[in-house]
Amino acid sequence: MHIVCPRCLDINRISHSQLSQRPKCSACHQAMFTGHPFKLSSRNFDLILAHTDIPIAVMFWKIDCPTCKTMETAYQQAASHLEPWVRVTRVNMNQERAIPGLYKVDDAPTLLVFKNEQEVGRVSGLLTTNEIMRWVSQYV
Ligand SMILES: [Zn+2]
Repeated sequence: MHIVCPRCLDINRISHSQLSQRPKCSACHQAMFTGHPFKLSSRNFDLILAHTDIPIAVMFWKIDCPTCKTMETAYQQAASHLEPWVRVTRVNMNQERAIPGLYKVDDAPTLLVFKNEQEVGRVSGLLTTNEIMRWVSQYV
């Protein structure tokens, strides 16, 4: 399967068995999974969507949103459990207008899951760590 390095954006080929063994990028030698949500932007979004052969979770958030701050802590905790089975990412809606526009995301926080470049799930509003893990895991 293909996974994009979150640091240098090199497209790595990884086997299923390597996935659980803390794989490192063949180009920059950094960890392919950090357990922290990776920041998506219009510069890396298309590449990551096209070359990530595991589900991608995306949390859309806004700076002036107290619910997003609460959920961010839960999302961070969920990320450390969901990776490497899911690529855990987030989009800052104040900085990135194109991605929310493309998927018609208005409310924050909103969680989307992509598989094979397609949106397969969406939920809005505050979720706990366990709720995030349960909801995202159904797409693995
Ligand atoms: Zn790399």
